[in-house]
Amino acid sequence: MNALPTLEQLRALGPLQQPTYPDSAAVDAAVARLRTAPPLVFAGECDDLKDKIAAVSRGEAFLLQGGDCAETFAGVTADNVRNKLRVLLQMAVVLTYAGSVPVVKLGRLAGQYAKPRSSDTETREGVTLPAYRGDAVNGFEFTPESRIPDPQRLVEVYNASAATLNLIRAFVSGGYADLRQVHTWNNDFVRESPFAQRYEAMADEIERALTFMKAIGADPDEFHRVDFHSSHEALLMDYEHAMTRIDSRTGLPYNVSGHFVWIGERTRQLDGAHVEYFRHIRNPIGCKLGPTATADDALSLAHKLNPENEPGRLTFITRFGADKIRDGLPPLVEKVTAEGVSVAWVSDPMHGNTFETSNGYKTRRFDDVIEEVQGFFDVHRALGTVPGGVLVEMTGDDVTECIGGGEEIDEHGLAHRYESVVDPRLNRVQSLELAFRVAEMLRR
Ligand code: PEP
Ligand code: MN
Repeated sequence: MNALPTLEQLRALGPLQQPTYPDSAAVDAAVARLRTAPPLVFAGECDDLKDKIAAVSRGEAFLLQGGDCAETFAGVTADNVRNKLRVLLQMAVVLTYAGSVPVVKLGRLAGQYAKPRSSDTETREGVTLPAYRGDAVNGFEFTPESRIPDPQRLVEVYNASAATLNLIRAFVSGGYADLRQVHTWNNDFVRESPFAQRYEAMADEIERALTFMKAIGADPDEFHRVDFHSSHEALLMDYEHAMTRIDSRTGLPYNVSGHFVWIGERTRQLDGAHVEYFRHIRNPIGCKLGPTATADDALSLAHKLNPENEPGRLTFITRFGADKIRDGLPPLVEKVTAEGVSVAWVSDPMHGNTFETSNGYKTRRFDDVIEEVQGFFDVHRALGTVPGGVLVEMTGDDVTECIGGGEEIDEHGLAHRYESVVDPRLNRVQSLELAFRVAEMLRR
C-alpha cells in the first residue's frame, strides 16, 4: 500500500462537503495545532475493535452504535454524556440478555461534530444564510456572523472530544458500567412506560443471576466493566488528516480521533478524496450505502477500501428507508457475498426515513425505523447472511423528536421538546423499546 496522501493531495481531489474558510492562514494554524495534539484513542484499541467487528461479521456478536446526529459543544456536560451512556448501556444489556448475544458497544460520540448538508444554504422567513454544518464548522444561531466557518472550531472539536472520551472512560471503568448497576441505570425513568417496567423485570432476573454467580464463586471482570468505543463520520479533511498518526508499533497510519470512522452517503465517490483518505488508515471503517448504491458500487468500494479482505476492517451501513430495504438490499448483499468479500452489515434505520411535518419539524416515525430493521433482518435471514448491528440516532433525554413509540408522540407533540440541531433522535423510552424489539428479531 502506498503512503498516506498529504493534506494538499487530498484537497487537490476536491473533497465534497468542506467549508470555505475566509482565512486560510487560520486553517493552517488550527491544523498545525492538531498535528501536535496527543491521540484521543490508541491504535491498539482500534485493532481490538476491528477484532470485535470481525466477530460481528461472523454472527458471533451484535453491534450497537448510537448517539446524537450531531454533538454540540454546549452538550459536553456530565449529565448529557452520562444520560447517553446510560441508555446505551441499558440497550446493550437488553440485547445481550433478551437477544442472547454479545454486544459490541460503539458510541456515536466524542467526535461527531461535522455534518454533511443536502443544501449549502438555509432560508428562514425570506432570509438566506449558509447552512449550519455542525459545531465543527459554524454556529447554529441563524445570523450571518454565526454561520461564517471558523477553523478554530476544529481545535474545539478536539477539546470537546477529549473531555467526552475522558468522562466515558471514567464511567465505563470506574463502576458505573458494573452490571450490578443494572437497576440504577433505570432510575428516574418514566415509570408508566411499559418498556421501563419490562426493563425492571429483566434487571431483577439479571440481578438474581449475578447473585447466584457470586455465591458459587464466579465474579469475572466482565461483570464490572464494559468495552466502549467511539465513532464519528470523518467528514472534514483538515481535522481528520491532522488527527492521523503513524503507529509506532507497525509504522501504519491510524486516525486517532476515534476508534471507528465512517464515510457518509454523500462522500462515498469511488475516486473521491474521502475514499482515498480512508483506504490508507488502518482503523475499522464504515461506509454508508443508500438506495442509489448499486451492487457494483458496493463491490468496488469493498475492493478499494479493504483490498486484503481483512475481517472487521469494513462495515457497510445500509440506510435505504423502510419502503426500499426489502427490494434494494438483496442485490448488494448477494453480489458482495458471492465475491467472497468480508464485510459487517449494519442497519441505519434512521436516514432513509426522515421527512418534514406540516408544522415544520424534521422527524421520523418510530414504526418506520422498526420496519427498516425488520426488513434488514428478513433480507439477511433469507440470504443466509448476517444482520450484524444497528446504528441509531438517540439521546438519553426525554426529547420529542421522533413520532410514535410507546408514548405515542404525534406531530403536535414534537413541539414539546425538540432539541436536535440536525436530525431527530429517539428519546430514552423509544431507544429502550427499539432494543427490546431488536432483541426479539435476534432471538428467532
Ligand atoms: C448521518 O449519519 O447523520 C448522515 C448524515 O447519514 P448519511 O450519510 O447516511 O446521510
Ligand atoms: Mn443524521
